[in-house]
Amino acid sequence: MIYRLAILLRNAFLYLMLAGSAQADIVWHWQDDFSGQEKERLKTWITRTVAAVETLVAPYPFDVHIHFYRMPGRGEPVPWANTRRGRVQGVNFHVDPSYSLQSFLDDWTAPHELSHLLIPSVGDRYSWFAEGFASYMQYQVMMELGVLSRKQVADKYQRHITQAYENYRLHRLPFDRAAAELRRRRAYSTLYWGGAVYFLQADFQLRQQNSSLTELLVDYVACCRTQPNGLAELVEKLDGLSGSDIFSSQLRVMQKQHGFPLFSVILPPS
Ligand SMILES: [Zn+2]
Repeated sequence: MIYRLAILLRNAFLYLMLAGSAQADIVWHWQDDFSGQEKERLKTWITRTVAAVETLVAPYPFDVHIHFYRMPGRGEPVPWANTRRGRVQGVNFHVDPSYSLQSFLDDWTAPHELSHLLIPSVGDRYSWFAEGFASYMQYQVMMELGVLSRKQVADKYQRHITQAYENYRLHRLPFDRAAAELRRRRAYSTLYWGGAVYFLQADFQLRQQNSSLTELLVDYVACCRTQPNGLAELVEKLDGLSGSDIFSSQLRVMQKQHGFPLFSVILPPS
């Protein structure tokens, strides 16, 4: 309870700081025709998800541009989505607007895509890092949204990571080298959840130092998110902010250690 109060106070402080500098907002782009009712439902879904990311971590220090496209008849509310990482930061959502608000809130796509925006694009070469990050964060955002319990998040981590471990066949390659081949084979789940082990391990080590990944991200977003960062700079910043070498040493494990990245304990989120 005290911890939650501390987070609320911290976020209120960050909001005040940001209000003085940048005005972060959601900017809506309707790429296809949507009815007034559909627009309201889609806006509620994204507004709530953005609020969950900002409560869990920190307010985005820039406007978030949301583009909606119609994609009906695929059997799911969000058949396709991807981030926009140019001059502006945002997400393209291809949606079937016939689904209910609850169906959209129960879907992991928006928590995943909006989590991507918390760190800069690190390039295709390191897509395992970006996807691992968004995969690790997405269920915590869903917990913040109130659609998953802490135990359900831990169970999902356990299931996805164990499945990725069992499906991994490139035992003679370090994961960082295997990533391109996994992408070529369209083994996306193995790629994403193998990458998530990097963040699971980093979070585990941070929590042994009485910190956590989300706590560290608060500092990162406030100081450094708007600076251009490649992977090396990002890892160096995270090491610096945590006063440790957790991120660079875990990166070396992914780059040097053959086989699927090892993991110790899969903890529920903090
Ligand atoms: Zn992604």
